[in-house]
Amino acid sequence: MALRSGFVCILGRPNAGKSTLLNALAGEKLAIVSPKPQTTRNRLLGILNLPKIKGRPAAQVVLIDTPGVHKADTALGRQMMREVREALRGCDLIFLIADASEKTNPGERFVLQLLEAAGTPAFLLLNKIDRIDKQDLLPLIEHYRQQHAFREIMPISALKKQGLDALLNATVAGLREGPRYFPEDQVTDQPLRFMVAEAIREQVLLATKEEVPHATSVLIEQFEEGKKLTRIAAVIYCERDGQKAILVGRGGQMLKKIGTAARLEIETLVHKRVFLALFVKVKARWRDSDSFVEGLDWRLQLEQMAGPPRE
Ligand code: GDP
Ligand code: MG
Repeated sequence: MALRSGFVCILGRPNAGKSTLLNALAGEKLAIVSPKPQTTRNRLLGILNLPKIKGRPAAQVVLIDTPGVHKADTALGRQMMREVREALRGCDLIFLIADASEKTNPGERFVLQLLEAAGTPAFLLLNKIDRIDKQDLLPLIEHYRQQHAFREIMPISALKKQGLDALLNATVAGLREGPRYFPEDQVTDQPLRFMVAEAIREQVLLATKEEVPHATSVLIEQFEEGKKLTRIAAVIYCERDGQKAILVGRGGQMLKKIGTAARLEIETLVHKRVFLALFVKVKARWRDSDSFVEGLDWRLQLEQMAGPPRE
């Protein structure tokens, strides 16, 4: 039987578990995850090459992880919502993922509006069922059933990897015959440099709280792959002196902790020993700066490097 293939956009509110699901289905860590909302800022791909098994044809499922749907009030937020809309454009299937352990809130309505506007078939994934009583599931399913004509409604736990086989089977069944969009050995579209920046940002998210995670971004300034050692220098940007003081910590302790944890993560990404130099800089209100936010966007940077399209 011919290959099934298609693009599947993972859509939902911040913290619903989109990136956790992407990583669980990909079987490796492609997206950073944290308990803080708005961890994911760019859309990114996880490419699944599924062999033919009994009752399921071979397939290439291209998952698109997206930033959480939220009301944008900064240049960064608007950029994140553009990423969501880009991901929705032309995808074949949508996974709407909702946190089943939380009360449904007005924010869901905005997600459902995006879904209606896209007009693409959608599965509703009720995530985090490891945290709820089974009896709470039925009213939730009923609630969502009234909001949208979902193709499937499936309870899952992305964290505990529950319900994922059934999800993959239904997904492949929902895709048409199509080409292999990416070579079989490619697992994501993100450049290594960007994954390194994300690994550092993840440690910042895990180590800090309140407004610091949201006010932080990471830019790689040096990336030199030697024979045995990869040398990386990165700047952690924040918006205020007080945030810088937190990120550096007493006697530089916080920065050291972030650096050590990030280095270990990065070593598994580059498969080499890593020398990591971290710096913290203040850039007031960078989240409101279109040009700064554009500078964080690797797709845009790649386009600019390639230059304008030739006639
Ligand atoms: P995203 O913002 O939608 O990408 O959400 P993340 O994948 O970053 O996850 C947000 C938080 O929810 C993290 O702390 C995850 O560990 C947690 N989480 C995700 N899926 C599950 C799940 O199935 N069960 C539980 N208990 N926690 C989950
Ligand atoms: Mg995410």
